[in-house]
Amino acid sequence: MPKLKLFALGAVLVVCVGGCAVNPVTGQRELVLVSASEELAIGRAQYLPAQQMQGGIYATDPELSAYVDRVGQKLAAVSGSDLPYEFVVLNNSLPNAWALPGGKVAINRGLLTALNNEAELAAVLGHEVVHAAARHGAKQIERGLLLQGLLLGAAVGTYDKTYAAGVLVGAQLAAGLIGQKYSRDAEREADFYGTRFMARAGYDPYGAVMLQETFVRLAGEKRSSWTDNFFASHPASQERLANNRELAEQLRAQGFNKGVLGAASYNQAMAKLRESAPAYAAYDEAIALYESEDYDAALSRVNHALASNYEEALFHGLRGAIRVKQGREDDALINFNRAIDRHAEYYVYYISRGLIHRQQGDIARAKVDLSASLDLLPTASAYQALGELAESEGDMSNAKRYYAQAGKGQGPESQAAIASLTRLELPEQPEKYIGARMSLGSDNTYRLLVINRAAVALKNVRVRLDIQTPQGSQSWIQRIEGIAAGQSRSVSVNLPSAADDGVQIRVYPVGAEIAGG
Ligand SMILES: [Zn+2]
Repeated sequence: MPKLKLFALGAVLVVCVGGCAVNPVTGQRELVLVSASEELAIGRAQYLPAQQMQGGIYATDPELSAYVDRVGQKLAAVSGSDLPYEFVVLNNSLPNAWALPGGKVAINRGLLTALNNEAELAAVLGHEVVHAAARHGAKQIERGLLLQGLLLGAAVGTYDKTYAAGVLVGAQLAAGLIGQKYSRDAEREADFYGTRFMARAGYDPYGAVMLQETFVRLAGEKRSSWTDNFFASHPASQERLANNRELAEQLRAQGFNKGVLGAASYNQAMAKLRESAPAYAAYDEAIALYESEDYDAALSRVNHALASNYEEALFHGLRGAIRVKQGREDDALINFNRAIDRHAEYYVYYISRGLIHRQQGDIARAKVDLSASLDLLPTASAYQALGELAESEGDMSNAKRYYAQAGKGQGPESQAAIASLTRLELPEQPEKYIGARMSLGSDNTYRLLVINRAAVALKNVRVRLDIQTPQGSQSWIQRIEGIAAGQSRSVSVNLPSAADDGVQIRVYPVGAEIAGG
């Protein structure tokens, strides 16, 4: 094979004072703020939560996952990067694929079903291999470009939006990494080198053109759930199609003209998933009906899905969620048991089953399930429920620990957890939530400034004043009706002999209650 002539896209001159590294894809030196070991650590730590937020692993067909990994490893092997690449298939109907720093790649079931051959798959995976090898995600972190507000978007394609909305600190980076938009230059670089990698790995580079044709066709169908997500970051365009066509022709002219499309091998690997396509279509309809609260119709569609594929845990899980909404907890419990029997590694089943156990008074089982869900994905829902269980048992130190964890999110459950933690801590640590100090006003009157440092409104705020004058000492409690979260109130205080020399005043927050609590 002829040696590839690499040319730089969007070349930038980087002055390397320190912390520089050669980009294995472009061969350029560039400034590195997130070190190689940090990148690996981020990829390792965020891979599982990222998978969990996107529907979990597609587990009913392990051969398909193994096949996708084999194709991905061929591309990784020619990428010039020594990242520990991994490729998984996620149980998600949206056509999407992503790469985390450190070479952790995922492709959704919903994108696999849209492809026609192994070369198209190689074009997708090659593109993602470049995103990781060229450190596109790490650069986004370095530039502070990852948004934290993408948690709801991260749960698309699954039915667990309520729980996923409360994804906590440890997993928020994963949500940001999946939901990010790379720059156009990064996308062009991923297309350009990804196509070269697939040619080097023995595929017909024309597969990248066919992939773009597939995307242009899918984008034309204007399914909003698709265009809102994958195509928002990877817009299908005639320009991109034309670029890929030109590149594929160049590569063929350079000797890469014996590559394979691999339609037969792809169809063979996809046979089981293709056979299940009507079942997943019924499941997708059931999710839409579930979200519009039409539970009877949702149940009918998910029963239809189960009738043709009884081994898919997601179908049992969604059936359980519908039964919960219908007030049929006993049925739901059976559904969640079946889901976990079939796929023991998806957090939603454990939260759902744990909450039923709690409702039925089986505290021990509730705790086991809620904790199991946390090992897969940290959510405010599970921590909040565990906090309430601990509090109901009088285990205040664990209750506070769980509420503090639940409070680290952004959703309403985190707000509730912060209120619970404040309620438990206020009597023992009023000074943590209430600030107080005296000041002398311009008119020589004393004023007491009381600050509510809590994240919730407080009422009946009490501050003790100890006053020492040459004549003696006295103390009393100053009471303030209510202070909004983060606000302060100032009240004038009548001292026995205001502004006299030798007056010493000490103030101590004594207590308060949560307003509305
Ligand atoms: Zn991309």
